[in-house]
Amino acid sequence: MSNFFGFFKKGFSKTADRVATIFGQAQLDEDSIEELEEMLYTADFGVETTEEVIDTIRSAYKKDKSFREKSAGEIGAEVLIRQLEGSEGQLKKGEHQPHVICMIGVNGSGKTTSCAKLGKHLQDTGHSVLIAAADTFRAAANEQLKEWCDRLGLPLIASQQGADAAAVAYDAYAAARARNADYLIIDTAGRLHTKSNLMDELAKIKRVLAKQDSEAPHSSWLVVDGSIGSNSIQQARVFNDSFPLSGLIVTKLDGTSKGGAIVAIYRELQKPVYYVGLGEKPEDLKPFDREDYSRAVFGLSEL
Ligand code: GDP
Repeated sequence: MSNFFGFFKKGFSKTADRVATIFGQAQLDEDSIEELEEMLYTADFGVETTEEVIDTIRSAYKKDKSFREKSAGEIGAEVLIRQLEGSEGQLKKGEHQPHVICMIGVNGSGKTTSCAKLGKHLQDTGHSVLIAAADTFRAAANEQLKEWCDRLGLPLIASQQGADAAAVAYDAYAAARARNADYLIIDTAGRLHTKSNLMDELAKIKRVLAKQDSEAPHSSWLVVDGSIGSNSIQQARVFNDSFPLSGLIVTKLDGTSKGGAIVAIYRELQKPVYYVGLGEKPEDLKPFDREDYSRAVFGLSEL
């Protein structure tokens, strides 16, 4: 089992366990197909995806009643893989240097920890990284990011609480350029899309960055908590309306039986998912892989 698949399998075990309970019956029948349908709804896959999975499994079952759990899982995973076509974001190194990634999200979504985890992931894969603490709204956010960066050996540009977030971003960009950093990851204040002052602050960060590189930020990612059900979809939709997002990080997919949110969010927004959060440890942020995800959700082994 590859390292990545292992993480997906572990991360989505709660969702997969429910599938396994249904498929645990010796042979599939109409009742277990209905149970599966219920499970897919409650795991937040959304109506369209659930119906497509169920319809496909049901018509296969009608053709062959000896149909078993394995084939049902394979069919389900294939439907998801198809639905998730185009969903895998891939950071391209070298198009811009530094490549600026702006992390956006509401408080508690996992934004700050994802900044640190992403920094580590990029550093571990041979890139030079600089982190900017532009969440100047809460002193605790700066502290938290500093602790993570110290622990992981990541360079950080920070400022005092109450400082102008856009000024931090501007200085950080200049520092990243002077140091030839490949990536600059900017942590921004947790905000609700309804807080217009904070949404204005985001626009200002974008404006000052553009003074140094007209295309910066090159990536604007919404960090969204995947365990909060349809709220996460609503949140992503509204953020996207007020600030142009280029992609998503979906966190907290471990420890929840709602692993389907990722499909519903992608279907709704059609924005690539770059990374998924599968735990609290530094290595628990993984590039999204639709095949690993879909097979793990249905409790299958790696291809
Ligand atoms: P922020 O307010 O958006 O910056 O959120 P934080 O980064 O401070 O994260 C809030 C909480 O969620 C912290 O306790 C994190 O450890 C936790 N967290 C973040 N990502 C994940 C994840 O992928 N899985 C789990 N289980 N917890 C996470």
